[in-house]
Amino acid sequence: MDAALQPTAHATRIVIIGGVAGGASAAARARRANASARITLIEKGPAVSFANCGLPYHLGGEIASRGDLLVATPKLFRERFGVDVRTETEAIAIDREAKLVALRLSDGTLEQLPYDQLILSPGAEPIVPPFVRGHYRNVTSLWSLSDMDRAIAALGDRESARTVVVGGGFVGLEVAEQLVRRGHHCTLIERNNQVLQVIDPELAKELEDELRSAGVVLRLGQSVTRLKTADVGAEDAEAGENIDGDFVTAVEIGEESIPADLVVLAIGVRPRTKLAVDAGLDLGPSGGIRVDRWMRTSDPDILAVGDCVEYQHAVLGHPTLVPLAGPANRAGRIAGSVAAGQEVRPMGAVCGTHVVRVFSKTAAGTGLSESMCRAEGIECRSVYIQAHSHAAYFPGAESMLLKLTYSPQGKILGAQAVGGMGVDKRIDVIATAIHFGGSVADLAELDLAYAPPFGSAKDPVHMAAFVACNDLDAYPEVVPPQTVLDSFQVVDVRTSKELERMPLEGAIHAPIDALQEMLPKLDRERPTITVCHSGKRAHIAACFLRGSGFKEVRNLTGGMQVRSQWLAAIPDPTVLQGGAAEP
Ligand code: FAD
Repeated sequence: MDAALQPTAHATRIVIIGGVAGGASAAARARRANASARITLIEKGPAVSFANCGLPYHLGGEIASRGDLLVATPKLFRERFGVDVRTETEAIAIDREAKLVALRLSDGTLEQLPYDQLILSPGAEPIVPPFVRGHYRNVTSLWSLSDMDRAIAALGDRESARTVVVGGGFVGLEVAEQLVRRGHHCTLIERNNQVLQVIDPELAKELEDELRSAGVVLRLGQSVTRLKTADVGAEDAEAGENIDGDFVTAVEIGEESIPADLVVLAIGVRPRTKLAVDAGLDLGPSGGIRVDRWMRTSDPDILAVGDCVEYQHAVLGHPTLVPLAGPANRAGRIAGSVAAGQEVRPMGAVCGTHVVRVFSKTAAGTGLSESMCRAEGIECRSVYIQAHSHAAYFPGAESMLLKLTYSPQGKILGAQAVGGMGVDKRIDVIATAIHFGGSVADLAELDLAYAPPFGSAKDPVHMAAFVACNDLDAYPEVVPPQTVLDSFQVVDVRTSKELERMPLEGAIHAPIDALQEMLPKLDRERPTITVCHSGKRAHIAACFLRGSGFKEVRNLTGGMQVRSQWLAAIPDPTVLQGGAAEP
């Protein structure tokens, strides 16, 4: 260790519990901020700073070497940062009065470690569903290196194992993709009617189509009732007898049995707050540790970061759980500075910006989805655009569906996109605008980089903003894809071929290029909705009809493409009434 980094006897003692995303960031930052502090990093697992986000990709072999997941070793922390790393050591209690952390070492012995400043970053723990009643050799979550090792061991050298993933969130989708990539069969069981709850159902449907076409068997709206084991039998397993270490042979959904060589559980996580609760620290309304913008808990000498805390949400305006790596790393950096006595800018509000790859599709989002807005009672409007990753005439362009959600006053509330290349870039641009409290008009004005291989002179972000501005300016307004169309004059401006592929009953067919000739057949007095495949030609038609004296014209945002995904995703027609426009 560098002599300059030798802690002095009177140095501040900083103890950090949890040595991965938030904890490791805090340790490195604390050292940069304070060369003399005594920094101790306590980690109950065998490794610090490992890439938990990379676990699915080593399971699938896309990250070939397990060692690549070990981003920074205890040795590096010791030698470069002068941090005392204690792996396989669990913090079991905090005595706030005496400022001591009780530790349990790997051999079971107990130790007390004094601190001046304590940082908690114990993360979250995977939720174990009630049908799991013991430890099975081939059933695991995917939250740690040992989980991943167990999954790999269960697959053994099988070339084509039968795997079941329970839960269709980020981790479940990544695992399903990677298992299929490695040549295994995969059934994904999701209790809700859609995968990826953080996006709206019509966008999730795009991912579901992709999963199915890649060979994943999707069981949506279904719940696992029990696990069938090889040697104790289903009856005993249900009775919760001693089944530790048994092999599960099948996953049951009611009477149906799905054979399984490996079951991966990915039904969500909950914040690890036991240490904090036992120590009497305050929790917030969603069950995470309450912290201020400098990551200080209700005890000024204890800070907390990562999946165990609540962050101020940029759109909701109140604190909430955001179990993602970005906020954990940024908050770790702030807590490291504060604990080391360095002045630092506070933690910004978070938008929950996320991205996931599912075979050839990428899904990303930021802020609130429309479903979240509804659940929170936030009034919102949404528009959809279909766009290309870069100029359509330049080779290799890939399409994306982008949904922009905003308040009736034009404030951006959120955005979601599913498609190929460039989805992440657009969502990041919109996340930046949300961070600065931007409006859809602000998005329309952004000066973005453009050349044909990279984008379009009117970027998808601009296009979505233009459509939203048109809607707000009633130029003309849009109606949502789920609108009940029966009582409107519906003018379908698609070609005959498009109509054959996706008919729309009750609509008047008036192809966009023949709209002028069709005018005498249309009723100017009736409330009218124009429809096309994606919403673009319908907008042109709506403008034209309005200019031709039609009293009330709106266009169906997202067109038939999004409407058909909506109808497929939401089989219950009463839900469709929710976004209906009144004629
Ligand atoms: P963690 O990084 O989980 O670290 C907590 C550590 O604390 C653990 O190592 C644990 O062993 C240790 N610990 C807990 N209790 C104690 C104790 N009492 N004593 C000692 N040590 C303790 N996020 C994204 O943004 N993008 C992604 O693509 C993404 N993919 C992911 C994929 C997977 C498979 C997983 C598991 C997570 C993924 N995440 C992703 C989430 C992201 O990894 C977490 O949000 C982030 O790691 C949280 O950081 P943290 O410091 O709070 O907790």
